[in-house]
Amino acid sequence: MKQFNKAAKLDHVTYEVRGPVVAEAARMTAQGINVLKLNIGNPAPFGFHAPEELVEEMQRVLQKGEGYSESKGVLASREAIVDYCKLKGIPNVTVDDVYTGNGASELISMAMTGLLDKGDEILIPAPDYPLWTASATLAGGVVQHYRCDEANHWYPDLNDIESKINERTKGLVIINPNNPTGVLYPKEVLEGIADIARRHGLILFADEIYDRLVYDGKTHISLASICPDLFCVTFNGLSKSHRIAGFRVGWMCLSGDKSYAKGYIDGLNMLSSMRLCANVPAQLLIPAALKMAHEVDTLLQPGGRLYEQREVVVNALNRIDGVSAVRPEGAFYIFPKIDTKKFNITNDTQFVLDFLHEQHVLMIAGSGFNWPEPDHFRVVYLPDVDTLTSSMDKLETFLKTYRQK
Ligand code: PLP
Repeated sequence: MKQFNKAAKLDHVTYEVRGPVVAEAARMTAQGINVLKLNIGNPAPFGFHAPEELVEEMQRVLQKGEGYSESKGVLASREAIVDYCKLKGIPNVTVDDVYTGNGASELISMAMTGLLDKGDEILIPAPDYPLWTASATLAGGVVQHYRCDEANHWYPDLNDIESKINERTKGLVIINPNNPTGVLYPKEVLEGIADIARRHGLILFADEIYDRLVYDGKTHISLASICPDLFCVTFNGLSKSHRIAGFRVGWMCLSGDKSYAKGYIDGLNMLSSMRLCANVPAQLLIPAALKMAHEVDTLLQPGGRLYEQREVVVNALNRIDGVSAVRPEGAFYIFPKIDTKKFNITNDTQFVLDFLHEQHVLMIAGSGFNWPEPDHFRVVYLPDVDTLTSSMDKLETFLKTYRQK
């Protein structure tokens, strides 16, 4: 009998939109139980709506977007992305180096499919945004997870990266600002990463979808901007900064020295044309959206919703006995540590499942982000301050008596 089970490769992958805990939350919701979902980075359901100009623009461009576009995307949109790359110091990007996609997700999957032959290796952070691991695995690659070090502000451990490189290693992925830790990497860390890629001939992949969502007056530095001599693929999009996750629009751009990546680029062009093109009306929003790239700033400053929600969640978590969390500097996630000895936790999925059953709050276990120990979980701090306060109170109450069996 033939077997049809390619997806079985991903059986172990549970993450924000799949796995037993998410399934259980869906079952509880269907039974009429009100579950607070702190599992997914989807701004709209929490009242973060798209700027009105963009919604109006979408209505205006609908008819213009009836047909397919060029497979890499509408020229005016790619020109706007090239300008954005210039602003960020990403070198040597022309319209030919820009690909628009149905969200950055589609392009992450395309980039991994084009890169990895069976057995090729790629370095992906742990914890990661799990689409990276899933896409590389489905492409036939072998993922080597390098550790981000909580004791060192969740920065990538450069020695660990270095120790996991061999002749089959093709690429190195960073996510900055990071999902799930929320941390922003400074220049020295980026330089260290570029140096490793330079010495080992690796392609760099930088997922920078949260680059406009940075707190405390900090500035995001694009990895590609500090290594013009290296080939770098940078990912970005409008789902988060412009709160239009449902419109599905993102992009990737190739930068730096492309001379040693010609075969890879040919493959990307082929994959891009195979899917014809990305959602055209959504692509048409890019020029207007990038003109208002700083519109989101009001949410990130003191008094702004995201800023205040971050304060509430980081302070509340650090007050709970047995829980501690590094202060996030970007995005809207936090990745707290839980004292496994104190609560006898050996299985983090069971921990979030028990919390879901008892307090009706859905969070994702650290293992969903390819974190190897059962001692972390992720909270999405998109709900308003009152909802977050009450959910953190629920966590505190739950942990007062919780001992995993
Ligand atoms: N990269 C990271 C780090 C993310 O957190 C997400 C979504 O949560 C994505 C990429 C995908 O974004 P989209 O496909 O909506 O552009």
